[in-house]
Amino acid sequence: MITHGRGRANGEAARDPPFGHDSIERMEFLLALRRRGIMRAEVLRAMDEVAREQFVGAQDHALAYGDHALPIACGQSISQPYIVAYMTEQLDLRPEHCVLEIGTGSGYQAAVLARIAREVISIERYRTLAQAARARLEAQGVKNVTVIVGDGMLGLKGRAPFDRILVTAATPEPPPALVAQLAQDGIMVVPLGPRDGPQRIVKLTKTNEGLARADLIAVRFVPLLPGKAHEL
Ligand code: SAH
Repeated sequence: MITHGRGRANGEAARDPPFGHDSIERMEFLLALRRRGIMRAEVLRAMDEVAREQFVGAQDHALAYGDHALPIACGQSISQPYIVAYMTEQLDLRPEHCVLEIGTGSGYQAAVLARIAREVISIERYRTLAQAARARLEAQGVKNVTVIVGDGMLGLKGRAPFDRILVTAATPEPPPALVAQLAQDGIMVVPLGPRDGPQRIVKLTKTNEGLARADLIAVRFVPLLPGKAHEL
């Protein structure tokens, strides 16, 4: 576990107890995820390894390991850690998988997916968010995520089919292009529901008989909107 000192003078870290404030905070973060039912070792490990405070604004560093969503630029938000872990777990990721994520936002969810899967392609409609996410991922040494500016509702035909698709914005129906770009036996996890109404995380599995659907937990996500964003 990497600990990040806050406001220490040079050389002071050596006097910290073996479990400083930051590492206790991160242990509690993992325990809270386990208590809420996150079971899979690779998901907990990925949540442990990705430093969430690097994906939120400096003013929110102290809140990074609490279980809440936090604001990022362009009126968007970084999802609550439990929801990030839950959706990752529902994807049933394997190391050979290529994952398409819609809604890069801060890049945090992409970094978590990238700890488990071979490759992550993430599409964001705001250029500003995409650029900031790229810079953060690079600073964190994440090499297997590609961030693309575009309309994620259209997917990325040239790279299809995808083993897994994760949508991190809410939509009333699964976008047909994404369903078409899901591999056979592939899994898509997507929050379904009206813009300001009840939404649920839904897991869709592409089988020989069509799409199998499992409705999971109730959530609240920002909306999936068509087209690239006009503002930067
Ligand atoms: N996964 C992000 C949180 C995403 S918030 C994280 O870990 O921080 C949802 C994001 O979806 C927002 O950034 C929003 O701009 C983006 N979004 C909404 N509609 C989109 C679309 N059609 N294509 C791509 N991104 C979209």
